[in-house]
Amino acid sequence: MAAAAAPEPGALPVRSGEKPWTEAEIEKIRKELQAEVAGLRADIAAAESDIADRLGDAVGDAGDDQADAGAKTFQREHELALTENQRTLLETSEQALARIENGTYGVCASCGKAIGKARLQAFPRATLCVSCKQREERR
Ligand SMILES: [Zn+2]
Repeated sequence: MAAAAAPEPGALPVRSGEKPWTEAEIEKIRKELQAEVAGLRADIAAAESDIADRLGDAVGDAGDDQADAGAKTFQREHELALTENQRTLLETSEQALARIENGTYGVCASCGKAIGKARLQAFPRATLCVSCKQREERR
């Protein structure tokens, strides 16, 4: 059985006054997201092997003085937080790609209206329309 074809870009929601999505516009966003996913995956993999290396070092390095160990712990925590952010970014990028494929890309997660092309072209990972986003930020 063949995989289900992605929905027509023209079927994705736009705000009133906006022209329907074209294949080229969606393709540009898809490429951007895919490049981001690939970059983030590589970053996370590199950071993880780095952290693993350093953890190995720390075990073998019992001679360190206190201050040095503290600095190392701080650095490690910082790196873990960084990977955590990258994971979140990776997840939202992957979700945006999935929404393009299943035809729900551009639907506001809060009010269900169109997020709008202009906003998505600036922020391809946006899941909220401008007014819902502003409401959320005021909370
Ligand atoms: Zn909304």
